[in-house]
Amino acid sequence: MANFDLVILGGGSGGYACALRAAQLGLQVVLIEKDKLGGTCLHRGCIPTKALLHAGEVADSARHSSEFGVKAEFHSMDMVAVNAYKDGVISKLHKGLQGLVKSRNITYVEGSGKLVSRDTVEVNGQRYTGKNVVLATGSYAKSLPGLEVDGKTIVTSDHAMHMTHVPKSVIVLGGGVIGCEFASVWKSFGAEVTIIEALPHLVALEDESSSKQLERAFRKRGINFELGTRFKSATKNANGVTVTLEDGKSFDVELLLVAVGRGPVSEGLGYEEQGIKMDRGYILVDEKCRTNIPGIWAVGDLIPTLQLAHVGFGEGILVAEEIAGLNPRPINYDGVPRVTYSEPEVASVGLTTAAAKAKGHEVVELNYDLAGNGKAQILKTAGSIKLVAEKNGPVLGIHMVGSRVGELLAEAQLIFNWQAEASDVAPLIHAHPTLSEAMGEAHLALAGKPLHAHG
Ligand SMILES: Cc1cc2nc3c(=O)[nH]c(=O)nc-3n(C[C@H](O)[C@H](O)[C@H](O)COP(=O)(O)OP(=O)(O)OC[C@H]3O[C@@H](n4cnc5c(N)ncnc54)[C@H](O)[C@@H]3O)c2cc1C
Repeated sequence: MANFDLVILGGGSGGYACALRAAQLGLQVVLIEKDKLGGTCLHRGCIPTKALLHAGEVADSARHSSEFGVKAEFHSMDMVAVNAYKDGVISKLHKGLQGLVKSRNITYVEGSGKLVSRDTVEVNGQRYTGKNVVLATGSYAKSLPGLEVDGKTIVTSDHAMHMTHVPKSVIVLGGGVIGCEFASVWKSFGAEVTIIEALPHLVALEDESSSKQLERAFRKRGINFELGTRFKSATKNANGVTVTLEDGKSFDVELLLVAVGRGPVSEGLGYEEQGIKMDRGYILVDEKCRTNIPGIWAVGDLIPTLQLAHVGFGEGILVAEEIAGLNPRPINYDGVPRVTYSEPEVASVGLTTAAAKAKGHEVVELNYDLAGNGKAQILKTAGSIKLVAEKNGPVLGIHMVGSRVGELLAEAQLIFNWQAEASDVAPLIHAHPTLSEAMGEAHLALAGKPLHAHG
């Protein structure tokens, strides 16, 4: 039985980031992973979806090339080649990560682990004991009662990653981030796409203005959606599946993607037996990711914080630094950047107008339309940057829609997290012509000195 400073269960974004930082701080670490180092993000999440989205962008560029004076033609998608490109990206990053773990002298154990006491995880009959145990077993794609995922006609994002052909028609059940990204991919690949969402808007956690702009853009792209309506049933048939909604509408499609959210991987892993406080399978933690059991920590999708890879990284690093005695600052989750990488992208940081008002702020808003931005015109994209600010005070939220606006979050998150006021940002000169100029223009306008803005 080996003895460690940290025993980490799960080698995804949360677990491996914790392992790398702890090892860097001189701690003895064992990292236990039953599948592949890198977890959901690298193998079934962020990276493959963004590769598929990029392939879709290339397809759309070919389709629209004549608008830019380029004679090219879109023939078809070659999904074998798309998958080879995507898998090549994953494989390179996977090898890099394996090398990093090795170079930091982290003990890496392959196998399915279980918490068998408050300081011990058992894997393949071997026990690993530590002063600290970090649980990072992540999440899985959920389905709905009565909706049986078969991996062929009714699939989750796990299966959608490996499609060997482009389906003729798809229903995407769920208009959240993952649903909208796949809708965007498949439309670009040439499928007929309809999103079904029970809530009144797509990407409903975003500011309502962003949701409405995405809906407008999707409508323009020919992506169909049904909002505020609930799924009733799905029946498989020879050609695919018939999907019926509670409002009586029905759709015959080749494929149904179930994208109704992700649940924590915590069942049967010994967590409850050790007395760890949980809520609907999620492990409850304090602001330093400590569970109620001293020496047991939890990070990533397993805890009820934002289910994002960079949140997992942040929590993993926080735990490693806390264990090493560095007393790091807790994470301000409002300050975490969020992106939906569809075409167009939706990106935000900070509070929505509704959330800012609910917190009692006296809110002012500023909308800067990308129509006034040179680079946006060059790219032929539409959208906006919306600022939510305290009256005579700091910026409380930044909400963006448009091609590539995710790249503007680097500046947006500094503005929010440093509690900048519009007058702090307005004097900063932004490079011309870039999309980032729109960030400068929005703050100029909010500071009362608009340049390229009407009205
Ligand atoms: C389609 C899709 C797209 C996404 N896109 C983005 C994006 O663009 N940006 C973003 O920030 N986030 C994105 N995410 C979310 C992101 O992937 C997750 O937030 C992140 O992977 C969570 O990290 P984690 O370490 O908590 O869990 P995971 O990455 O799920 O890792 C958990 C690991 O634990 C292992 N494990 C589980 N049980 C055991 C056990 N008993 N023993 C040993 N090992 C075990 C699993 O095999 C897994 O490798 C996306 C997710 C999906 C599904």
